[in-house]
Order: sequence, then C-alpha cells, then structure tokens
Amino acid sequence: MISAMILSIGDELVLGQTVDTNSAWLSQQLAAIGVRVTGHATVPDDQPRIEAAISAASSTCDVLIISGGIGPTEDDLTRQAVAAVMGVPLELNPTALATLTTFFARLNRQMPESNTIQAMLPRGSQMIENTCGTAAGIKADIARPAGGNSRVYVMPGVPREMKAMFVRDIMPKLQSEGGGAAIVSRTLHTFGVGESTVAEQLGALMQRGRNPSVGTTVAGGVVSLRVNAYFDSREKTIEEAERTSAACHQILGDLIYGQDGESLQQVVAGLLRQAGKTVATAESCTGGLLAKTLTDLAGSSALFSYGWVTYANAAKEQLLGVKSETLASHGAVSEEVVIEMASGARARAGSDFALSISGVAGPDGGTEAKPVGMVCIALADAQSTRARTFRFSGDREFVRDRSAKMALAMLRFKLLGKSMPF
Ligand code: ATP
Ligand code: MG
Repeated sequence: MISAMILSIGDELVLGQTVDTNSAWLSQQLAAIGVRVTGHATVPDDQPRIEAAISAASSTCDVLIISGGIGPTEDDLTRQAVAAVMGVPLELNPTALATLTTFFARLNRQMPESNTIQAMLPRGSQMIENTCGTAAGIKADIARPAGGNSRVYVMPGVPREMKAMFVRDIMPKLQSEGGGAAIVSRTLHTFGVGESTVAEQLGALMQRGRNPSVGTTVAGGVVSLRVNAYFDSREKTIEEAERTSAACHQILGDLIYGQDGESLQQVVAGLLRQAGKTVATAESCTGGLLAKTLTDLAGSSALFSYGWVTYANAAKEQLLGVKSETLASHGAVSEEVVIEMASGARARAGSDFALSISGVAGPDGGTEAKPVGMVCIALADAQSTRARTFRFSGDREFVRDRSAKMALAMLRFKLLGKSMPF
C-alpha cells in the first residue's frame, strides 16, 4: 500500500488566516483510492522550513503531496526548496514557458517578466499542466537517505486549481500504482452514553494496530465509531470493514442508531414513516429546537403535525391544558408537568406520539433542587405517558441540544419497542 504525506505551504495557513482545506480534501481523495496518509504538515513561506519538511516527509513515505508556494512572487519558494533538496538547479522548461505564453496570449495580456519563474523546474523533474491557472505543477523523485526514491508532487495552493490538477493527473497515477489497494471507512453513530463507556464495551476491537481499526470521535453528544480497513484488494477491504462493523453492532446493539451520513432525526423519521405514525412536540426550554430538528427533513409533513413552544406557565395551561395545581405544586420543570404537556399535546394534535421538554437551560435560574442542566422529557403514546429526568452539564446551547436529541432517542427506542439502555 502506498503511503503519503501531505504538505501545505503558506504563511496565511500557519497564521490561521486561511483554513487548510486542501489537506482535508486530499486526505479524503487519497483514502478513496487506497493510499494511506501518514501525516499532514503545514509550513510558512520560508525556504529552509519548506526544505526541512520535504526532507523529513520524503524519508518516511512513498509519496509527498505538496500544495502552495508556486506562484510568481517572492514568497513562492516551493520550487526552489524542492530543487535544493534534490541537489539540482532550476532550469527553464520550454514546454512550461510555451504553456505560460499561450495562457497570457489567450487572455490578450502581456506576460509579466516575473511569471517566467513559473516555467523553471528542478532539473530532472517533470511539469504537470495547470488547466486553470499559470502555476504548472511539478513531479519529481527525491532520493531517500536510506536508498530508493520518494515521489513528490507539487500543486498550486488555490484550491480550485489544486483539485483540478490532482483529479486529472495525479490521482489516476496513484490509483494505478496502488495495484487495487483500498481503504474503506464506515462510521457508526451512538447517542446517550459517553465515549469511554463505548470504548470499554468495544474492548479488543479498539486495540491499536488492529486492521480494520476502530476509533471513536465525539461531536454534539454523538459518539461515533470510525472503522477503517486497509487491504490490498477492494473486495477484501469492504468485506473486512463490514465484518468489523457487524462486530461493533453485535456488542453495542441498539446503542448504534445509524451510520455514515445518517442523523438521529433521519433515523427517527424513517422509523415513524415505516410505522405510519405521527408525532407532535411541546417544548419549553428548547424553544422549538425539537420541532425544528424534526422539520429539517424534507417530507416531514407526513410525520410531524403540531409543535408548541409553551415557555410561560400560562401558555402551558392555556395551550396544552397543564393544570395550574400541577405547576404550583411541582414547578414547571418536573416530570408531572412534562407528562401533562405531552398528553395535552398528543390529544390536541391527534398524533400517535407527543414529546415534551421542560428544563433549566441556564446559565441562570438554577436552584439546589433544580440545578442548571436538569431537564424533564416525556413521551406520550396511546397507552401511557412516561417521563424521565436528565442532567446535562454544559452551557445553554449544550443543554438545549442534548435535550432535543434525548427526546428523539426516547422516541426511537419506543418505536423499536425496546427500553432505553441508558
Ligand atoms: P500557487 O502555488 O497557486 O501560487 P500560492 O500559495 O502561491 O499558490 P497564494 O496566493 O499564497 O498562492 O494562495 C492562493 C489562494 O489559495 C489563497 O487564497 C490561499 O489562502 C489559498 N490556499 C493556499 N493554500 C491553501 C490550503 N492548503 N487550503 C486552502 N486554501 C489555500
Ligand atoms: Mg501561498
């Protein structure tokens, strides 16, 4: 399997003024064709640093993919650095010069003298045509200290030009040299338990060095398992990725709600659609976030009927029929109140299910009995209305986000006919 390092060059990248999107994009493309990326590096427009990065990377991997620093200006030093590491001078490449001249002629413009540098390539290297700009790319071999060569590709920093050059010229070469090797990734999503709990349950599947590897990442309370398989044939890679994904499913069961691009609300919507059921919402502290989440999906009118935002006690009473005694004796954030909110919403909407949420989103309003982050959620169906109390620890946005997701998770387990495992 071919290994590759990605090197991005530019002061603006190191200063954080421009986000290095080239490396992320290149990594995804390389994974798709079975090239194993062993690292990313970013260096400023500084020749000694560029040289050091090229030497270090080329001694450890088969291919080094560079973007940036091949423009016509003083701060564009990548070609000089590549030549220096190769120990060769820059030479005028007649084809590159002719392409440049034609490029300017087509625009009816005089070619500035400074652009000539873009036709200079390290001796022994080859030019890669740039179909969208003036900076030709470079393909060169760099001798490794330990013997053998490492291949270097230099591309423009401008994302549009880089992408065009990579897809047209470099990707097909790497793909054919890779001999069918493949990387296949699957991402499985869970919600409701922490990352360490998931990792503990997965045990040996997460052992470092395992192929396929299993790693976890967390975003927005969603703990995702990333299964990455690297093998010499695409078929075997897919088979092994599937086998490991199945092993994860075996262990975590219904904790896994979906995979790859699937969101919790998509999965819940799918289950509702399958069952031909509808849901209504009654929200307090989430201010409509749950309804928004459900209606983010196209075609949600088939499964979502009504949503209430009943922030004030009076609204809970008038719009949902919550009893004033319940509010007075238990307070707005209580299982008793969310139960009345959910059953009131369900009756008024005529829906199969209703979800209700009332909690202390913070940062103010917490008490010892009802601290910030305490949230009550209820789910009503034809048989009963059940409530749970959760405690989310985070800022206002965090509490509201997790509340909406937890309500969806409750509905998901109800639709699966299972009890919540957390
Ligand atoms: P070229 O090699 O094509 O001359 P350059 O680095 O010399 O590229 P710049 O003017 O520095 O050209 O960059 C061109 C544009 O591309 C800028 O907007 C820059 O921020 C952007 N860019 C360069 N590298 C990256 C990167 N790795 N990710 C995202 N944008 C980038
Ligand atoms: Mg630059």
